[in-house]
Amino acid sequence: MSTRPSDGSPSPRRICVFCASSTGSSPEYAELATRVGRSLVERGYGVVYGGANRGLMGRVADAALEAGGEVLGVLPFGLQAMEVAHEGLTQLEIVDTLHERKARMMELSSGFLVLPGGHGTLEEFFEVLTWLQLAIHDHPVGVLNHGGFYDHILAHLDHVVTQGLLRPEHRDLLLADPSLDGILDAMERYQAPPRPTWATRPRP
Ligand code: AMP
Repeated sequence: MSTRPSDGSPSPRRICVFCASSTGSSPEYAELATRVGRSLVERGYGVVYGGANRGLMGRVADAALEAGGEVLGVLPFGLQAMEVAHEGLTQLEIVDTLHERKARMMELSSGFLVLPGGHGTLEEFFEVLTWLQLAIHDHPVGVLNHGGFYDHILAHLDHVVTQGLLRPEHRDLLLADPSLDGILDAMERYQAPPRPTWATRPRP
């Protein structure tokens, strides 16, 4: 994927996964992360993620590697120094800043899958969703709403629409499904609607 949809370059078949750097209070989260890593490889995708060896992040990477897949990690220098780097990846890129990391993860990927996570996951999720709204990229953003984990956030987004602060067509850009196959199928079918980018939209 390119961060600009207009440059005509082909998209790599890779999904960028955002998920927790911890494993959570229930073993079901780690089991889910393992299923995600394996399923992405079975569907022919490479995995892009934050490059850490811990939490759900590490589980996704380990499962994808065990299944014989390509796993690309992008880690900021500071986190590498904290010894969280996964040493067994197909490729680990060290970048200077968190901002650079996100831009690089976007360049490497053709879609974004959000698993359960905390602040870091939410921040990455809303940034790529905002970039889709602005047509800075045109790739699917999918929430795996396992066990209703994201019900509150999805309901809040509907509330924001009712308050007139989020356009319904922008709300509709976000894909969500409780099942892994369901969200991956929806992402594969996804076609971004044609829309002007923030840079080309005429001034009122
Ligand atoms: P969180 O959901 O707060 O655990 O943050 C996880 C997300 O933020 C991941 O998708 C990572 O890209 C990034 N992140 C947060 N903590 C770390 C860490 N210790 N090592 C690598 N990436 C991290």
